[in-house]
Amino acid sequence: MKKSFLEALKQNGELSVNEPMKNHTSLRIGGPAEYFIKPKDVSALKRCVMLAKEYNIPLTIVGKGTNLLVKDRGICGIVIKLDRGFDYIKVDGNTIKAGASSLLAAVSLKAMKYELGGLEWAVGIPGSVGGAIIMNAGAYGFSIGEVTERVKVLSYTGEILEFSKEQMNFTYRSSILREKKIGIVLEAIFNLAHADEMFIKEQMKKYIVKRRLTQPRGYPSAGSIFENPPGNSAGKLIELAGCKGLRAGNALVSEKHANWIVNLGGATAKDVVTLINIIKDKVKSKFDIDLQLEVRVLG
Ligand SMILES: Cc1cc2nc3c(=O)[nH]c(=O)nc-3n(C[C@H](O)[C@H](O)[C@H](O)COP(=O)(O)OP(=O)(O)OC[C@H]3O[C@@H](n4cnc5c(N)ncnc54)[C@H](O)[C@@H]3O)c2cc1C
Repeated sequence: MKKSFLEALKQNGELSVNEPMKNHTSLRIGGPAEYFIKPKDVSALKRCVMLAKEYNIPLTIVGKGTNLLVKDRGICGIVIKLDRGFDYIKVDGNTIKAGASSLLAAVSLKAMKYELGGLEWAVGIPGSVGGAIIMNAGAYGFSIGEVTERVKVLSYTGEILEFSKEQMNFTYRSSILREKKIGIVLEAIFNLAHADEMFIKEQMKKYIVKRRLTQPRGYPSAGSIFENPPGNSAGKLIELAGCKGLRAGNALVSEKHANWIVNLGGATAKDVVTLINIIKDKVKSKFDIDLQLEVRVLG
């Protein structure tokens, strides 16, 4: 069975067995993905989904891996990474259609070129459109849900579905697709407003400078580890709980931004989980607040 499954799977794109996930995460951490595949197009993606169903094999989707903590033991089953076949950005009037694997920052820059405003804040976010839609990525008071008109999805039962902005139910760092296991983001359509290119450029510069001043640089990370509790800042709470500079193995709570854990080199997922648990305990005992993870833990 295993041979015929592998034969069928590899027809659909670049396949590797026991692929180290540390090569596909911005934290540079993560054990092997059992079957790692980059489907060439939507039909190939659909066949991968159907094979997982037929052989009862777990299926995991990853984007650019910038919001992931993959455990050291790796991920069982099929890990799908959307790649070239899903990387396109098309502008039509005030709307931009972008494939799920396009970089969100590239969409933001393309919007600038066409004098379309509304995505300036996204220029420093390293993830894909698919990951941004699932997580309702945002910064500086804005989020992707606000400018999203429609999302095309391949359901886990193999149908193509379309979700309107309202149906997406975007909330803080979440959407219907994160709450319910419905399917895989294929494409998103953004509705933007006309704006002057110089004005957009200035806004982008401002956000980039802000990031440089507040976010750690030079070491791998996954951005913010915890969500901000309602009306509060996770970074502030973690700092006041005395966690800045805490270290487990080669993982460190950043001195620059307490809600970031950086990999000093060769850190393991176990090191990061140790820090996460210490932070949660300290914040709970000092403020009686339960921090919720923003990073997605896989494996
Ligand atoms: C330096 C740095 C700065 C960051 N700054 C910000 C910020 O300002 N604001 C912010 O919101 N985030 C930020 N992030 C986090 C991250 O970039 C975003 O959450 C991004 O949207 C994740 O996209 P991704 O492609 O990397 O998704 P991944 O990390 O690969 O995946 C995230 C989740 O989405 C799912 N997923 C990914 N693609 C698809 C798809 N096509 N269909 C279905 N599910 C999918 C995965 O299964 C997983 O659950 C930052 C991260 C870093 C490293």
